[in-house]
Amino acid sequence: MRGLLIGRYQPFHKGHLEVIKNILREVEELIIGIGSAQISHTLENPFTAGERMTMISSVLKSNGLSERCPYIIPINDVWNNALWVRHVRSLTPKFDVVYTGNPLAKRLFTEEGVDVRTPAMFDRFKYSGTEIRRRILKGADWESLVPTEVVRIVKEIGGVERIRDISKSDKITFLEPGDVSP
Ligand code: ATP
Ligand code: MG
Repeated sequence: MRGLLIGRYQPFHKGHLEVIKNILREVEELIIGIGSAQISHTLENPFTAGERMTMISSVLKSNGLSERCPYIIPINDVWNNALWVRHVRSLTPKFDVVYTGNPLAKRLFTEEGVDVRTPAMFDRFKYSGTEIRRRILKGADWESLVPTEVVRIVKEIGGVERIRDISKSDKITFLEPGDVSP
């Protein structure tokens, strides 16, 4: 049996690794789909699909999981929910079950008759891409939330500086009477 796990992995964290290990108890092979593959250099999506692929393949390799997760596939957005499942199918090998916690993805796959399972969450308050990006931005500990390979790659590509740079703005804010100065 072959499964599919779709995420944006911005960045890939320890929650993702745990969920992959759990899913591999249910399926022989797992396809990793990298969603919103075309987006990078934004606060929500700082890393390119290529960078995310490098993170994921390094972590899988050092955990001895590469053979069971042989496909890491970038999936661009199509901005058409009715066509999205077909689009995913056109890019991936055949799969029997989809793992996702995203309610819209769940609905779209279910409407197409796909078996959808919701993976159990691991310490969701810590192991979340949003929390990790927030910590990188404010200089708090993010390294403990991601596998060591991800720490190395984020640092190699200047990811910390990238996130801080893209959070800056060249706009100036005019204060209205009564506003409190920041
Ligand atoms: P973001 O906050 O940027 O949305 P995220 O942590 O939700 O990041 P995604 O790439 O959106 O990461 O995650 C894809 C999928 O990975 C989710 O739908 C969920 O099923 C699974 N996942 C994410 N975090 C965890 C976690 N802590 N435990 C288990 N599964 C997780
Ligand atoms: Mg998410």
